[in-house]
Amino acid sequence: MLSTLRSLAIFTACVLLSGASPPSDGATGSRPAVIDAHAHITPSGLQHLPGIMKSNGIDLVVNLSGGSNPRAFRVRQKMSEIVPGLLHFYTPAWRERIQPGFGAREAAKLELSVSTFGYRGLKIAKALGLYLTDELGRRIPVDWPELDPLWAKAGELRVPVAIHTSDPKAFWEPPDPLNERFEELSVHPSWSFHGPEYPPREVLLDERDRVIERHPKTTFICVHMANSPEDLEVVDALLKRYPNVVVDISARVPEIGRHDPEAVRAFFIEHQDRILFGTDLGLSRRGLMLGSTGNDTPGLDDVKPFFDAHFEFLETRTRDLRHPTPVQGDWSIDGIGLPPEVLRKIYRDNALRVLRFTGPPGPSSAAPGP
Ligand SMILES: [Zn+2]
Repeated sequence: MLSTLRSLAIFTACVLLSGASPPSDGATGSRPAVIDAHAHITPSGLQHLPGIMKSNGIDLVVNLSGGSNPRAFRVRQKMSEIVPGLLHFYTPAWRERIQPGFGAREAAKLELSVSTFGYRGLKIAKALGLYLTDELGRRIPVDWPELDPLWAKAGELRVPVAIHTSDPKAFWEPPDPLNERFEELSVHPSWSFHGPEYPPREVLLDERDRVIERHPKTTFICVHMANSPEDLEVVDALLKRYPNVVVDISARVPEIGRHDPEAVRAFFIEHQDRILFGTDLGLSRRGLMLGSTGNDTPGLDDVKPFFDAHFEFLETRTRDLRHPTPVQGDWSIDGIGLPPEVLRKIYRDNALRVLRFTGPPGPSSAAPGP
């Protein structure tokens, strides 16, 4: 903790000496200042964040890796003092063989993170449903009743739950060269859920939906286009059925952009109030993550083309675009050219509403609003 805080203090001095200023509501051309609602930023990756925000017209970043204990909360709070516009979500302390009472204990820690440290939400990793077990070694389903206090607490605190349940369809197919995600699965064998030891994808999504149904007062951000970018009609039905759901586009533009661009455009326009911009940008000791990771480690020079690929998809009607995350597969996407008023909601206004963020970036506005 001390060494982390000390290195953050040194970094603060560097930022001040370099004359870097806090991000403002600076738009890029006709684009409003963008909110990246899905990122993973650790203290050791923080030094790169101000430059990335500035050169890509981003003024708020939601860090979904906020940690689960007061030590982590204090470090994240310091990070936000250094980089105004960095918000954090609480991440439960998942471990193997979870004991009864876990949900109530985590609810109390979520409350501490929000009320004392200005956290803005709760992040649920895909481990829930896929890897985690109870004290008897049985798989914990996403709708495990023990977790109800946690979902309810998020609703009571009026902070959203960013929930990652299941994964791309291809991860349930055999991980062989015929699998179009073979390259990605070769780098990450543990991302393959093919075989009887894993629950079917549909079972996981149904479990998630039962949680959403049981907690209508809690807002759920179903990340990665609700993990059904392959079937936008499924996402359409989810959004129509549950008013407490929004989705983000993080790490799924390559899938979303493969469909008929007119149909995708119509989907985005119909659900213009329910879609958040996010990228799955990761900055950590291990380096950069741009939506996913492969054998080639990206460099800082790759960040702008990564964001530009998102912007081009949303803003232009160009065909055969290079998608943002090449390791996900070898195909091109088609731009959907959304109108400016829709883009403004997706880039910014929807996130401000869901995060209940009213003030300009900065530590003074980190406390929850009314
Ligand atoms: Zn993520």
